[in-house]
Amino acid sequence: MNRNSTPIDDYRHRGLRRKLIKELADKGIYSQAVLDAFNQVPRHFFLDKAFEELAYQDRPLPIGCAQTISQPYTVALQSQLLDIKKGDKVLEIGTGSGFQASILCALGARVYTIERQEALFRKTVKNLKQIGFPQIRCYLSDGFEGLPIHAPFKKIIVTAAPKELPVKLIDQLAVGGIMVLPWGDQKNQKMVVLTKTSPTTYKLSEKDDAYFVPMLEGVNK
Ligand code: SAH
Repeated sequence: MNRNSTPIDDYRHRGLRRKLIKELADKGIYSQAVLDAFNQVPRHFFLDKAFEELAYQDRPLPIGCAQTISQPYTVALQSQLLDIKKGDKVLEIGTGSGFQASILCALGARVYTIERQEALFRKTVKNLKQIGFPQIRCYLSDGFEGLPIHAPFKKIIVTAAPKELPVKLIDQLAVGGIMVLPWGDQKNQKMVVLTKTSPTTYKLSEKDDAYFVPMLEGVNK
């Protein structure tokens, strides 16, 4: 992401992207809107030049600050589970490279995203402006606190794994809203869909095993 100029998206990148999209469909991503969003957002724009060749393989990659950009399948799955409708107000915890936030934006969401690591936050804010997603609202803070002044959110996506369900985020979810999060410790994590059924109740549905970095408290300056 240490780019000095706008990156180029050429026919070779577009070809690799089409192959990746087919792979995602073969692995069970059925939402055409999500597959189209993957076509609109060049993943190599979110990586250092050294990893450009690997950008369209279905694997996580390093983005600095000991963090990773999630595997494309995971980004697609979380996006599909969120069932984004145009104009949905969405909160993301764990901005990282900004790729997931950009996919949500391409799906028509109004995206708010929180990152706790200052160096990564600064790099990504700059990059999102340069590559054409200046409308994503980025915050440097602790995701466990959410963004109470902008709540309620129709959807919340967590891209780092908390050990306990994040109660303040559940409070900030609209009734009828959906939160998708990996939940558990480093040895045993599951992807979970939480649906808020009333101001004080929710239901949980457990999906596949998940492999995310831990969600940590506080801001790292
Ligand atoms: N969504 C990202 C990948 C996220 S990796 C992408 O598309 O690239 C997980 C990110 O969560 C890391 O950047 C990590 O610093 C961040 N994180 C961990 N705990 C957090 C917290 N409490 N608040 C905000 N961000 C957090």
